[in-house]
Amino acid sequence: MDLDQYKSLYNSLLLLLKECRPEIVGVLDKILANQDQLDFNLLPVKLLEADQKYFSELSARIDVPTELLIFTFDHSLRPFLRLWAEPYYSEIAEDEFRSWSFASICPFCGSKSHISRLRATDGRRFMFCDHCFTEWETRNLYCVHCGNNTPDTIQYLTVEEDPAYQVYTCEECKGYLKTFDERHKGDKTDLFIANIETVYLDMLAKEKGYTSHDND
Ligand SMILES: [Zn+2]
Ligand SMILES: [Zn+2]
Repeated sequence: MDLDQYKSLYNSLLLLLKECRPEIVGVLDKILANQDQLDFNLLPVKLLEADQKYFSELSARIDVPTELLIFTFDHSLRPFLRLWAEPYYSEIAEDEFRSWSFASICPFCGSKSHISRLRATDGRRFMFCDHCFTEWETRNLYCVHCGNNTPDTIQYLTVEEDPAYQVYTCEECKGYLKTFDERHKGDKTDLFIANIETVYLDMLAKEKGYTSHDND
């Protein structure tokens, strides 16, 4: 990894945040002033390992909220993850369950996925990673959290205005997964944008007592 590039991207992100989020300028300045405390070599590894202890110690040392610190490292790493993952996109998408059985976890970067699509051409279902943009196939009537595939216990919710957006729910583990059915529109959708635009579906699912199992 080109550390200078990562550092410079990280700086640009902080400057952009300062511009767009004036209410947290003080905190952002604190991070900028303490950059010598940040080990850019180690940060990507700690992020991918989700090492909470490391980040809470680091944030205590420079006195900024852990969540914000992780947010900044995470978002500046994502473009690199996409570049690294891209050569493997088609190989992973066409793997057909041969080498990966953790349906909700990205086989490339280990991040948790929250959305899938049913492919326009054949209805096959692909999970999407919003960190590195990798897609991997998973079965249709199947809970990506617990592996349950008993037909009656997997349901889906839709909202009337847009039947292409569905929320699959599992009665076994109370998990849910957002899904975009491309067959309604006939072509591929941008799942990165779709995931953000459908926060209302997350709220709907949570309101009905389902969880995305983020903290398991
Ligand atoms: Zn990923
Ligand atoms: Zn389940």
